[in-house]
Amino acid sequence: MKPYKVTGRVSSFQSLGAVDGPGIRFVVFLQGCPLRCIYCHNPETWDMQGGTEMTADEVFSKIRKYRNYFGKNGGVTVSGGEALLQIEFVEAIFSLCREAGIHTALDTSGTGCQDDEKLENLLGLTDLVICDLKFVNEEDYFRNTGGSFKQVLHFLDLAGKHMIPVWIRQVIVPGINDDEESVKKLNEISMAYENVERVELLAFRNLCIPKYEKLGINFRLRDTPQASEELISRLYEFIEKKSI
Ligand code: SF4
Repeated sequence: MKPYKVTGRVSSFQSLGAVDGPGIRFVVFLQGCPLRCIYCHNPETWDMQGGTEMTADEVFSKIRKYRNYFGKNGGVTVSGGEALLQIEFVEAIFSLCREAGIHTALDTSGTGCQDDEKLENLLGLTDLVICDLKFVNEEDYFRNTGGSFKQVLHFLDLAGKHMIPVWIRQVIVPGINDDEESVKKLNEISMAYENVERVELLAFRNLCIPKYEKLGINFRLRDTPQASEELISRLYEFIEKKSI
C-alpha cells in the first residue's frame, strides 16, 4: 500500500512540543497501548478502539503546516500510547517525513511489536529513538507495567545494531525505582550501548489523578509522594550519560 493511504488511530497532536526530542517538535500521540504502567499519565490512550482514524497523509498534512517552526533541530515525534502497536502507520508517517527531509523521533517503550523485520524497517526511517525503559529488571517490569523487559532489551539491541541514536528515559517513582541499585543498573544498561546518547530521569507526578477518576480507573499510586527535584539531582550522580 502507498504510505499515504495507510490508516491508524491517533489520540491527539501537540503542535509545538519542546520536550520530546531535539528542538521544536510536532508530536503525534497514537492510540492504543499494551502496557499498564503503574504511573501512566495518559490512560485515555490505552484503548485501541479509541482516538480518531486517520490516513498517514492526513497526519502529514498537519505536520507540513508546522515545518517552518522546526528550524535546524526540530521535527516530528511519534509517541503513544505505544507507537509500535501501529508500526505500519508509523512507518508510513516517517517515510513521508523522510522524503520531505524532516527529522523523525520515535518515542516508545520498545514493546508492542515483536516482528524484527518490521522493527528494522521502521528503525531505518528513524533519526532518534526515545526509549522509556521504565524499570530495569524483569520482575519489576512485569509487576509495574504488565510487560516484558526482555522485549525492551531486544528492541535496544536492534537500535544498537543499526546505530540509531537513543535517548533513554525513566520515570523515578519513590519507593519503587528510586534506589541506588536500580539507577546504577540503568546507568550500566546505557553504557552498554554506544548509540545511547543520554539518559533522562523524570520525576513521578500525580497530576493525572482527575483523569483516572473521570475514567473510573483505580490509580494505584494515589498515595505515593511525588519525586522531589532533590531526589532526581541525587540520582543523576549515578548516571554517566547525563542530559543536564
Ligand atoms: S507505555 Fe506509556 S501510555 Fe502505555 S501504559 Fe505505559 S506510560 Fe501509559
